[in-house]
Amino acid sequence: VIKEYGGNDYRHFKHEVDDSGADSLTMETALRQALNEEQFHLVFQPQIDLASERVVGFETLLRWQHPELGMVPPDTFIPLAEDTGLIIPIGEWVLRTACHLARDLKAQSIAVNLSARQFHQRDLVSLVAGILEETGMPAQTLELEITESALMFDMEAAVITMSRLGKLGVRISLDDFGTGYSSLSYLQRFPIDTIKIDKSFVSGMQTDAGSSAIVNAMIAMSHSLGLQVIAEGVETEAQRDSLRERGCDQAQGYLFSRPLPFEQVVNGPDART
Ligand code: C2E
Ligand code: MG
Ligand code: MG
Ligand code: MG
Repeated sequence: VIKEYGGNDYRHFKHEVDDSGADSLTMETALRQALNEEQFHLVFQPQIDLASERVVGFETLLRWQHPELGMVPPDTFIPLAEDTGLIIPIGEWVLRTACHLARDLKAQSIAVNLSARQFHQRDLVSLVAGILEETGMPAQTLELEITESALMFDMEAAVITMSRLGKLGVRISLDDFGTGYSSLSYLQRFPIDTIKIDKSFVSGMQTDAGSSAIVNAMIAMSHSLGLQVIAEGVETEAQRDSLRERGCDQAQGYLFSRPLPFEQVVNGPDART
């Protein structure tokens, strides 16, 4: 497993856990424990309408506060949760918690990330329908973010799942767009509502002619297909202004706000967490 994931983070994690004396504590046990012992929480990053500069939604992001290791970043543990299958119960917890908190966030849109394995789980649509009913969240408020690789894994199944989610009223966005293997022509095959321009293009946009051209092409193509476009990882005013001029609909990034704890979204920046 260490070889597969290669990253120093995991090696570090394993090492630390071993040093703490719990030899048999694997990542899987640690993740299971995290779920049972409420070590997970959600943070919410505002999504801004570029024309009005108003907050129109939030992206839900998962955080793991480990009692000894501190904050473990999702890029480290999500792939392991995916690998062990624990992403299924963890993902269900994220979805239920986000929908439960949505009412107090008072936003038009709450986005939740789904990994490939979650997206292809057999009963995803009934799970989503059940959680919406249980929490009273309007389906139109929920947006599910999936990546191109989740779609490419099984395109026929993906189209069916997305159509069924669409019938519920749930919206779908394509995350990290441009980093996967899909071509723009796939966009019209899938019932997608929004594409999210990956932050690598946003950060390259003003210095690299290639990134700049790709951003323009993504915006033009999306609009001609009737899709909304949101740019991720917007960190500077220059990027924001340039995206607005290019006709990008929405943006999110550190320029506007880091992902915030629930209490701060609801009670304002001075709220204690
Ligand atoms: P993502 O869905 O593409 O989320 C965007 C990531 O960019 C987040 O990292 C966010 O904190 C970060 N970000 C936001 N604004 C900026 C900015 O201006 N500059 C830079 N450099 N980064 C920015 P985070 O929270 O560490 O999440 C990383 C990835 O982990 C996510 O990428 C997503 O793929 C995955 N993830 C997070 N939460 C969940 C979850 O609940 N379920 C699943 N399946 N995956 C999740
Ligand atoms: Mg996302
Ligand atoms: Mg992304
Ligand atoms: Mg990502």
